[in-house]
Amino acid sequence: MAGSVRTVSIFGATGSVGTSTLDLIRLEPEKYRVIALTANGNALELARLAKEFDAEIAVIADAAQYQILKEALGGSSVEAACGAESLVEAAARGADWTMAAIVGCAGLPPTLAALACGKTVALANKEALVSAGELMIAEATRSGATLLPVDSEHNAIFQCLQGGHIDQVRKITLTASGGPFRTWSLDRMAAVTPEQAVAHPNWDMGAKISVDSATLMNKGLELIEAFHLFPVGLANIDILVHPQSVIHSMVEYRDRSTLAQLGSPDMRIPIASSLAWPDRMETECKPLDLAEIGNLDFEAPDYDRFPALQLARSAIEDGGVKPAILNAANEVAVAAFLKGAVQFLDITEIVSRVLSSYSPPQPVSLADIFAADEEARCRADLVVEEMKV
Ligand code: NDP
Repeated sequence: MAGSVRTVSIFGATGSVGTSTLDLIRLEPEKYRVIALTANGNALELARLAKEFDAEIAVIADAAQYQILKEALGGSSVEAACGAESLVEAAARGADWTMAAIVGCAGLPPTLAALACGKTVALANKEALVSAGELMIAEATRSGATLLPVDSEHNAIFQCLQGGHIDQVRKITLTASGGPFRTWSLDRMAAVTPEQAVAHPNWDMGAKISVDSATLMNKGLELIEAFHLFPVGLANIDILVHPQSVIHSMVEYRDRSTLAQLGSPDMRIPIASSLAWPDRMETECKPLDLAEIGNLDFEAPDYDRFPALQLARSAIEDGGVKPAILNAANEVAVAAFLKGAVQFLDITEIVSRVLSSYSPPQPVSLADIFAADEEARCRADLVVEEMKV
């Protein structure tokens, strides 16, 4: 790949991961040619980025914003498109490297379309893998696509596995910061506001994942993600709270050697590792200074105050469409919390009620997953109505 120009597409270009990816591309613009950039509703920012990077196409998911996008792109050579179908068509253009950074299960169809091209897909969009893990891994295997995990924990595990073999792994440990309410009592957590929940102590992220980090549902989703990406068996994946977010995860081999990946809590580091892979690139991220940090602390997660962890573990044990239901109900519950419609502790309660409200048949196709996703969203909406504050 040395010296050659790589084509790249970024799904969710206006978000936290998307803009960090573009920041890295700005460092070495001669190495990349942008095919597609996408957003949901932020048409002006999408147009600005598409013009700056001279993208082939800019896709806005929300059709109501199409006219704004088209006008903002006027006079440029960037093609404008809108809607879910156009996202899939843009992904099917088959960039050499695609960043999947749409938030939520809405990212699943374009991510599958990118995987079908058999190129490299950097996966940040964990909800897609949680909902349709088996199908995504099967599609990557069928097409020969390379799936690079971007989530800092999974990227850490991926790096710890370089030079090792998954058959030799005894245990994987996913580290968790514990979120902003790690030490809070349930009484105190009951009154948490959206502003408090999105203020993560270590990471600067989008609103949805920040709330997921506060409930620890993010770690639950990551457990499911790890289950699909690294086939060591659910029982061999542990969660360890590590408030400083310096060790991003660990792999213990059969001989009891444990490899860990460390770094400053900055998403540009795992994104850079995926963007340059299998090479390495210079970044402007803060180097790790362990003397300055002084101590690294660890503790077991509290399953009572953070029931999302057990909900996720049970969902993957039950299998079938249960993880898709867990994810969909969580998306609805988090959105309701961010709008002020329900309280913080209601989020996992809503997910729990939806999960226990029905047992659909095992999935056989993507259509079954979408059906389960839709049904779970309807059921979650009803629970939100009952709980409205
Ligand atoms: P943001 O909310 O910051 O950005 C989300 C992006 O997706 C935006 O470009 C948004 O467009 C677009 N989008 C939102 N909804 C839709 C939709 N229905 N259809 C199409 N596009 C949509 O999210 P993050 O960047 O924080 O997270 C992105 C993904 O990466 C998530 O799955 C998250 O869990 C994962 N992740 C994020 C990390 C982080 O540090 N932020 C770390 C690890 C994983 P618009 O701007 O127009 O709304």
